Amino acid sequence: MSEKLSFVAPTANSPWGTYLSQVDRVVPYLGPLARWVETLKRPKRALIVDVPIEMDDGTIAHYEGYRVQHNMSRGPGKGGVRFHPDVTLEEVMALSAWMTIKTAAVNLPYGGAKGGIRVDPKKLSQNELEKITRRYTSEIGIIIGPHTDIPAPDVNTNGQIMAWMMDTYSMNVGGTATGVVTGKPLHLGGSLGRVKATGRGVFVTGREAARRLGMDLRGARIAVQGFGNVGSVAAELFAEAGAKIVAVQDHTGTIVNSNGLDLARLIPVANKEGVVAFKAGGDIVPNEDFWNVACDILIPAALEGQITAERAQKTTAKLVLEGANGPTVPQADDILAERGVLVVPDVICNAGGVTVSYFEWVQDFSSFFWDEDEINVRLDRIMMNALNQIWDTADKHKITLRTATYAVACERILMARQERGLYP
Ligand code: NAD
Repeated sequence: MSEKLSFVAPTANSPWGTYLSQVDRVVPYLGPLARWVETLKRPKRALIVDVPIEMDDGTIAHYEGYRVQHNMSRGPGKGGVRFHPDVTLEEVMALSAWMTIKTAAVNLPYGGAKGGIRVDPKKLSQNELEKITRRYTSEIGIIIGPHTDIPAPDVNTNGQIMAWMMDTYSMNVGGTATGVVTGKPLHLGGSLGRVKATGRGVFVTGREAARRLGMDLRGARIAVQGFGNVGSVAAELFAEAGAKIVAVQDHTGTIVNSNGLDLARLIPVANKEGVVAFKAGGDIVPNEDFWNVACDILIPAALEGQITAERAQKTTAKLVLEGANGPTVPQADDILAERGVLVVPDVICNAGGVTVSYFEWVQDFSSFFWDEDEINVRLDRIMMNALNQIWDTADKHKITLRTATYAVACERILMARQERGLYP
């Protein structure tokens, strides 16, 4: 009965196409709530904005920005802002939808949203970066706010960008609104533990999955794609637990070392120039070889659609921890399941970031800040409770962890939708 969305034509492996197929798989487990499922297949609100800025050389450049609020049945929209040359409305729609599923999976009182600008920030000066951030914030200011939609960092955005966003929004509303974004610097209402929270969540869920598989983390070989906020922190925590990081890939290329890369030396180099600059620490190999590296755990922590059917066929990993959002296409998901490779899906694996963002937001409103131990204890508890419930659901229905996460999350979202009823 519902008309198709006119502004997006997803293909099977596109981010929105991947998301739709993940929702379709959960329908048999929704019972009578299935009548509401269409609500998950379209965003509540999508805003496209023009972001003009004067460049340092005096020219005027225009960029395209987006903010999509996918679903707000359970609370305000929540989700990061990405600066990347390949950002599209379709990608942001999928990322916002995955936030809806994720916040429900860990039972935070939020809906899902996401934003982005189609720009390569590495080509901008600091001055231009500040201008583009401020103009974008002002343009989306009509739909964001501490009680409506709260942005956070994502690919190529960080605490400084959150500080500019907070300041711009605050200037426009005439007061200091710390709760409008999370992932802020500490002295601006940020939270201890936020920078490492996503990587920490990947580690906590990964450690539990390894335990259930009977895999010893000491000596386990790990390949990590994407060595930014999520990938490098997860790698560090696994290395502390005794694992060996045998391959790392970022936008500059791929480095391998079967004895384990020395992270204390790699991370500062990678942060500045990318992993390929760490030539002395390992061998530089063609990017496609990353997927054949002998490993026990694979951590995609870069972009969507990286684990294709072909790569799923050749990986030697027994456990995949989705640090990135949407890294596995549906066909690859099936191949991994058939091959007995366990996948801890993005919507629970990388939920540590939004969980500590929630703590930050709560602390901002109460103006009372917790110490790091308290943050980490609460984070670990929330992640473990969510994962255990998802695992029980997977065992009960004999389904993958991904479909089980969707079953738990969609029940919460659609129950809220049903109880609220349709307005008017
Ligand atoms: P980041 O900008 O800190 O790091 C991104 C990394 O990916 C960099 O190392 C970059 O070099 C690498 N990369 C970019 N393009 C690549 C390519 N084509 N091939 C290989 N590597 C490439 O971003 P981040 O915050 O670490 O986010 C990474 C992923 O994790 C994204 O999917 C993001 O949505 C997801 N995520 C992030 C958070 C968070 O709190 N930051 C939370 C949940 C999920």
